[in-house]
Amino acid sequence: MNNADKFLDNAQMTLKKFDQSAAFDRAFAEAKAAAARGEVPVGAAIIKNGVIIAAAGNRTLELKDPTAHAEVLAIRLGCETLGSERLTGCDLFVTLEPCAMCAGAISFARLRRVYYAAADEKGGAIAHGPRFFTQPTCHHAPEVISGLREAEAASLLRDFFKDRR
Ligand SMILES: [Zn+2]
Repeated sequence: MNNADKFLDNAQMTLKKFDQSAAFDRAFAEAKAAAARGEVPVGAAIIKNGVIIAAAGNRTLELKDPTAHAEVLAIRLGCETLGSERLTGCDLFVTLEPCAMCAGAISFARLRRVYYAAADEKGGAIAHGPRFFTQPTCHHAPEVISGLREAEAASLLRDFFKDRR
Protein backbone atom coordinates (compact mmCIF):
# COMPACT_ATOMS: atom_id res chain seq x y z
CA MET A 1 0.00 0.00 0.00
CA ASN A 2 1.50 3.37 -0.99
CA ASN A 3 1.24 6.52 1.12
CA ALA A 4 -1.74 7.96 -0.75
CA ASP A 5 -3.65 4.70 -0.32
CA LYS A 6 -2.67 4.59 3.33
CA PHE A 7 -3.89 8.14 3.77
CA LEU A 8 -7.22 7.33 2.12
CA ASP A 9 -7.56 4.16 4.12
CA ASN A 10 -6.96 6.07 7.37
CA ALA A 11 -9.39 8.81 6.32
CA GLN A 12 -12.05 6.19 5.61
CA MET A 13 -11.44 4.53 8.94
CA THR A 14 -11.74 7.90 10.72
CA LEU A 15 -14.95 8.67 8.85
CA LYS A 16 -16.33 5.25 9.71
CA LYS A 17 -15.54 5.77 13.38
CA PHE A 18 -17.12 9.22 13.23
CA ASP A 19 -20.32 7.79 11.70
CA GLN A 20 -20.38 5.08 14.32
CA SER A 21 -19.99 7.47 17.21
CA ALA A 22 -22.65 9.83 15.79
CA ALA A 23 -25.05 6.88 15.45
CA PHE A 24 -24.31 5.70 18.98
CA ASP A 25 -24.71 9.28 20.28
CA ARG A 26 -28.16 9.33 18.72
CA ALA A 27 -29.06 5.92 20.18
CA PHE A 28 -28.00 7.11 23.64
CA ALA A 29 -30.00 10.34 23.24
CA GLU A 30 -33.05 8.21 22.38
CA ALA A 31 -32.43 6.01 25.43
CA LYS A 32 -32.25 9.07 27.71
CA ALA A 33 -35.43 10.50 26.16
CA ALA A 34 -37.13 7.14 26.82
CA ALA A 35 -36.08 7.29 30.48
CA ALA A 36 -37.52 10.82 30.72
CA ARG A 37 -40.84 9.40 29.50
CA GLY A 38 -40.69 6.70 32.18
CA GLU A 39 -39.81 3.98 29.66
CA VAL A 40 -36.94 1.53 30.09
CA PRO A 41 -33.97 3.46 28.65
CA VAL A 42 -33.09 1.69 25.44
CA GLY A 43 -32.42 3.60 22.23
CA ALA A 44 -31.60 2.64 18.66
CA ALA A 45 -30.42 4.34 15.47
CA ILE A 46 -29.98 3.05 11.92
CA ILE A 47 -27.44 4.38 9.43
CA LYS A 48 -27.06 3.91 5.72
CA ASN A 49 -23.95 5.23 3.97
CA GLY A 50 -23.05 7.21 7.07
CA VAL A 51 -26.44 8.93 7.31
CA ILE A 52 -28.86 8.35 10.20
CA ILE A 53 -32.11 7.26 8.51
CA ALA A 54 -34.05 6.32 11.65
CA ALA A 55 -33.85 6.50 15.44
CA ALA A 56 -36.21 5.57 18.27
CA GLY A 57 -36.44 4.79 21.94
CA ASN A 58 -38.66 2.36 23.82
CA ARG A 59 -42.35 3.33 23.77
CA THR A 60 -44.07 0.22 25.14
CA LEU A 61 -45.93 2.11 27.91
CA GLU A 62 -46.85 5.12 25.80
CA LEU A 63 -48.15 3.06 22.87
CA LYS A 64 -49.48 0.27 25.11
CA ASP A 65 -47.65 -2.05 22.77
CA PRO A 66 -45.33 -4.77 24.07
CA THR A 67 -43.60 -4.88 20.66
CA ALA A 68 -42.69 -1.16 20.71
CA HIS A 69 -39.04 -1.80 21.49
CA ALA A 70 -36.50 0.78 20.26
CA GLU A 71 -35.14 -1.59 17.59
CA VAL A 72 -38.58 -2.47 16.18
CA LEU A 73 -39.65 1.19 16.04
CA ALA A 74 -36.34 2.20 14.40
CA ILE A 75 -36.70 -0.61 11.83
CA ARG A 76 -40.25 0.51 11.01
CA LEU A 77 -39.09 4.10 10.58
CA GLY A 78 -36.10 3.05 8.49
CA CYS A 79 -38.29 0.97 6.17
CA GLU A 80 -40.66 3.92 5.83
CA THR A 81 -37.74 6.22 5.01
CA LEU A 82 -36.32 3.88 2.38
CA GLY A 83 -39.72 2.75 1.09
CA SER A 84 -38.68 -0.87 1.41
CA GLU A 85 -39.33 -3.83 3.68
CA ARG A 86 -35.59 -4.51 3.73
CA LEU A 87 -32.79 -2.43 5.19
CA THR A 88 -30.03 -3.83 2.99
CA GLY A 89 -26.67 -2.19 3.62
CA CYS A 90 -27.90 -0.56 6.82
CA ASP A 91 -26.37 -0.81 10.28
CA LEU A 92 -28.30 -0.74 13.55
CA PHE A 93 -26.89 0.77 16.75
CA VAL A 94 -28.62 -0.06 20.01
CA THR A 95 -27.75 0.62 23.63
CA LEU A 96 -28.73 -2.86 24.89
CA GLU A 97 -28.36 -6.38 23.53
CA PRO A 98 -31.52 -7.06 21.46
CA CYS A 99 -34.16 -9.51 22.73
CA ALA A 100 -35.43 -12.51 20.71
CA MET A 101 -38.26 -10.50 19.12
CA CYS A 102 -35.89 -7.74 17.99
CA ALA A 103 -33.28 -10.23 16.79
CA GLY A 104 -36.00 -11.75 14.59
CA ALA A 105 -36.96 -8.32 13.25
CA ILE A 106 -33.29 -7.48 12.58
CA SER A 107 -32.91 -10.69 10.60
CA PHE A 108 -36.10 -10.12 8.57
CA ALA A 109 -35.00 -6.54 7.85
CA ARG A 110 -31.72 -7.89 6.42
CA LEU A 111 -29.65 -5.41 8.42
CA ARG A 112 -25.97 -5.63 7.59
CA ARG A 113 -24.52 -5.02 11.04
CA VAL A 114 -25.68 -4.69 14.61
CA TYR A 115 -23.70 -2.72 17.15
CA TYR A 116 -24.90 -3.07 20.72
CA ALA A 117 -23.54 -1.54 23.90
CA ALA A 118 -24.57 -3.31 27.13
CA ALA A 119 -25.02 -7.08 27.28
CA ASP A 120 -28.35 -8.32 28.63
CA GLU A 121 -27.89 -11.61 30.44
CA LYS A 122 -31.58 -11.85 31.35
CA GLY A 123 -33.31 -10.84 28.12
CA GLY A 124 -30.65 -10.74 25.40
CA ALA A 125 -30.90 -13.13 22.47
CA ILE A 126 -27.64 -12.47 20.61
CA ALA A 127 -24.93 -13.67 22.98
CA HIS A 128 -27.38 -15.08 25.54
CA GLY A 129 -30.54 -17.21 25.63
CA PRO A 130 -31.56 -18.41 22.16
CA ARG A 131 -28.49 -16.85 20.43
CA PHE A 132 -30.89 -16.28 17.57
CA PHE A 133 -28.41 -15.47 14.79
CA THR A 134 -26.61 -18.79 15.23
CA GLN A 135 -29.76 -20.91 14.80
CA PRO A 136 -30.30 -22.88 11.58
CA THR A 137 -33.80 -21.35 11.36
CA CYS A 138 -32.27 -17.86 11.12
CA HIS A 139 -31.91 -17.12 7.42
CA HIS A 140 -30.02 -13.84 7.62
CA ALA A 141 -27.48 -13.14 10.33
CA PRO A 142 -25.95 -9.67 10.52
CA GLU A 143 -22.38 -9.05 11.59
CA VAL A 144 -22.46 -8.31 15.34
CA ILE A 145 -20.19 -5.88 17.17
CA SER A 146 -20.71 -5.68 20.92
CA GLY A 147 -19.19 -4.05 23.98
CA LEU A 148 -18.79 -0.51 22.63
CA ARG A 149 -19.80 2.09 25.27
CA GLU A 150 -20.94 -0.78 27.46
CA ALA A 151 -20.34 0.94 30.82
CA GLU A 152 -22.25 4.04 29.74
CA ALA A 153 -25.27 2.00 28.65
CA ALA A 154 -25.19 -0.20 31.76
CA SER A 155 -25.10 2.80 34.10
CA LEU A 156 -28.03 4.40 32.25
CA LEU A 157 -30.11 1.28 32.96
CA ARG A 158 -28.85 0.95 36.52
CA ASP A 159 -29.71 4.58 37.35
CA PHE A 160 -33.16 4.18 35.83
CA PHE A 161 -34.04 1.11 37.90
CA LYS A 162 -32.44 2.56 41.05
CA ASP A 163 -34.66 5.66 40.80
CA ARG A 164 -37.76 3.51 40.46
CA ARG A 165 -37.20 1.56 43.66
ZN1 LIG B 1 -36.48 -6.13 21.88
